[in-house]
Amino acid sequence: MRSPGCAAPPARRPNILLVPGGRPTIGRVQAFRTWRGCFVVALLAVITMVVWVVGPISRQPGPVLPRERGAGHPERSAPGGRAAASSREYELTRLLQRRAEALRTRDETVFMASVDPKASTRFQRKQRMLFRNLREVPLAEWSYRLDATATVLPPDPGTLPVPPDELWAPRVVLSYALAGVDTVPTTRVMGYLFARRGDSWYLTSDTALQEQGRSTWRGPWDHGMVRVVPTDSGLVLGHDRNLELVHRAARMLDDSIAAVTEVWGTGWSRRIGVVVPGSRAELRALVSPAYAVDGIAAVAVADEVDTTTGRVEGPRVVLNTQTAEPLSDSALRVVLEHEITHIATRADTVEAAPMWMLEGFADYVGYRGSGIPPERIAPDLIHRLRAEGPPTTLPSDRDFRLSGSRLDLAYQQSWSVVRFLARELGERRLVELYHRIAGSRSPEEVEEALQDLAGMDLAELIESWGRYLLRTFD
Ligand SMILES: [Zn+2]
Repeated sequence: MRSPGCAAPPARRPNILLVPGGRPTIGRVQAFRTWRGCFVVALLAVITMVVWVVGPISRQPGPVLPRERGAGHPERSAPGGRAAASSREYELTRLLQRRAEALRTRDETVFMASVDPKASTRFQRKQRMLFRNLREVPLAEWSYRLDATATVLPPDPGTLPVPPDELWAPRVVLSYALAGVDTVPTTRVMGYLFARRGDSWYLTSDTALQEQGRSTWRGPWDHGMVRVVPTDSGLVLGHDRNLELVHRAARMLDDSIAAVTEVWGTGWSRRIGVVVPGSRAELRALVSPAYAVDGIAAVAVADEVDTTTGRVEGPRVVLNTQTAEPLSDSALRVVLEHEITHIATRADTVEAAPMWMLEGFADYVGYRGSGIPPERIAPDLIHRLRAEGPPTTLPSDRDFRLSGSRLDLAYQQSWSVVRFLARELGERRLVELYHRIAGSRSPEEVEEALQDLAGMDLAELIESWGRYLLRTFD
């Protein structure tokens, strides 16, 4: 983790993430508290934070509509009544079908025919780049769904470079799946504005509706040519400017997935998509514009999670090139395994589950085969142990929202308590315990799970863990 002879302890830094990395939906905004920021591990002399961004506890019943000011307003230009509206919907649905098919079949001419030839040259150029940037990305699905019942007020046609005959802004949802990674497709709202010129409809902008609260989701392909390195168990997506890190991550991916599976078992997809953004802007777009991404090494994200059905849409490990690049291989491997653990366990983890178990377990798996000695993993814990004796409580969820060494301590304590449980119960039973505790919605359920599977109540756990810490570190 640290070059031999380097004496400084691994530093951990605060993690502030508690905002959704996904779509700006009402459900997500309301579910603010359900998004977790978590694992923070710093390796080498680099501030290195690893964060898990998760979806809401379960999918909202019915479609989750985006927060859109003006939604439902009558369009500025909607002549012709119901028949015209239905023909418009039909025409645009066809347009989007042709566009999606052109993307899947790599037909640039047909794809560009969906773009307004009188749109701004910048938009036309970006659309062409989008098409080309996706060239290497293996897509199992790419389709659009138009919802004519969820329109927003389009801008005044006079504000466009060449005013069209009509503008319309129905809700458009992109559904895509990475081949070899996504077991189910993931969906994203696109802020598409359509223009009619004569009898023809076109896509004329994907930014004009931002003020209405309808922004276009940006994937890695909106940020440059995507380079793809496939592995046996997944894909790593990046760009020319960070290709070395892309290849390093790809070399580690299969073994990291295997290492997580060794502990967690085979009851998950065991397919991972890793994205290596080429810029801070891309990182922010993939994680969340509202999240402070500086200093993080990796983030695990998912678009939607349904713990009832076990459906996890769009799980990705997103690396931060700037902080991940200088990491040693063993440090990067810990980071990957920690995040992959979050993805593997995600469908079994409810939002109310205690973070000491979620983070401690991910840390336990991450460090498990790393060869990094415990005293290097937990310097703050050891310091505290020597100064004040063993902890008297488990880290609370609130401790994970602290910063600096107090946050480091929360992670180190969590890692050590899970490691203790692994020693006491064996990994198989630890995994059973994780299932029970990660599915717990109250402290009483956690206590019950401990009693059933570890044969101790919380007070006994804290006491035995304290003795274990003294044996291990004192
Ligand atoms: Zn974590």
